[in-house]
Parts: sequence; structure tokens; C-alpha cells
Amino acid sequence: MSVPGWGRMARRSIMGFFKKIFGSGEGAEPQFEVVENRLCTDLTRYRVRVRKHGQEIYAEELFQAATKPKDLQFGRFFLLNENPPQVHFSPSLEEAIDWFQGRRLPKDGFPSIFWGEEVSLQCSVCQKEATTPLLITKVEQLAVYTNIPKLMEIMGWRVIEVAADLMGAGMPTKILYMHKTKPIIKWFNPEIRFICGNCAQRLTEGGRQAELAGYVIF
Ligand SMILES: [Zn+2]
Repeated sequence: MSVPGWGRMARRSIMGFFKKIFGSGEGAEPQFEVVENRLCTDLTRYRVRVRKHGQEIYAEELFQAATKPKDLQFGRFFLLNENPPQVHFSPSLEEAIDWFQGRRLPKDGFPSIFWGEEVSLQCSVCQKEATTPLLITKVEQLAVYTNIPKLMEIMGWRVIEVAADLMGAGMPTKILYMHKTKPIIKWFNPEIRFICGNCAQRLTEGGRQAELAGYVIF
């Protein structure tokens, strides 16, 4: 995508948004970066699919049919031919966070998946599982617009980067598994291996602590 504005941040509006949700001044406020992008459908046709009331159409069809601002309302939209496929865009930042974490999922007549607020990890030795908080670190704000016959625009939001203490950062994506779409995280460092405290202690007591190198203990 060659779009102007990539990397610009809009922290101030985000802080206002979180003040509204969490109340001001208490504890650590979640922080993430907002990446603003623009995509013109006059140049890039058949790339954006819009979902609305159980129907799915191209963004250019939405623009063509719109006669008043209300006609531009939508349930969500997403980019076709994205590899790997990423999260769908919500009509507001608040919904983007809610949907990602599994709250108030979209009611546009289509099934939804979500990534939740935790991610699980597994001990490489005994397979014991644990969970750790999944934090949102980057959100994309995408304006999809046309100039023909006049300027019309829809704005969508989605989570594009997350992080967890033990895993580092990653990108939320999805895979098709047994004919079902499954939410996954593509970690930027996929090599990290985990070992639980018990197994780590056993190795240490057996004088094998050298084997712990390269493992993250949880
Ligand atoms: Zn273990």
C-alpha cells in the first residue's frame, strides 16, 4: 500500500477515549499507537468488501448507491487479498477494541471471531499451559474514499499489533482450520520456547541448568 500519512500518531484522541472508558488518572492507562492510512477506490478497485445488514458489497458499490450521508453507514469492512489476512475494520475505535477482545460483537448478519484479552503458552517439556495478558499496541485507522463523482469516505478501525510480556510483539491474523476461521497471533519472534517453573527447577536440581538457555520460564 502506498499511502500518505503512514506512521502518523494520534495519541491525544486515544488518551481522551481511554479517559472516557477507564476514568481519568487511575493506574496505568493502556497505550497504543494509531497508524492512519488512506485508500482510494478510484485507483484500487475491488479491494474493499463492506458488510451491511447481512449483505456484502464492494466499497465502490456502496459509494455509487449512496445519495445521503446515512447511506455510508456500514457494519464493518475488510481488505480482500490480504496475506496474511488481518482483522476486519469496525466503524469506531471503541468497537475495534471491543470486537477484538470479544465484547459486543458486530450484529451485521455475519459470524465473528475475536482474539480475546489473554494468550496461552505451553511448557515445552510437560505441556502445562498458562495464560498471559494480551495487550493492544497498534491500531490502524483506514479511510476508504472515492473522489468520483465527489468525495465520499468511510472510516474503519482495527487492531494490527499486539504484545505479551513473555512473547514480545505480534500481528493478529487468522487461519482456516477444519473449515472454520480461527484467530491466531503471528509472533514476530516465533522461536521463543517456554518452560514452566517446575520443569526449570527439576533441570536446575539435576545440574542441567545449561539446558535452560533459550527458554523463557513461566
Ligand atoms: Zn513443565
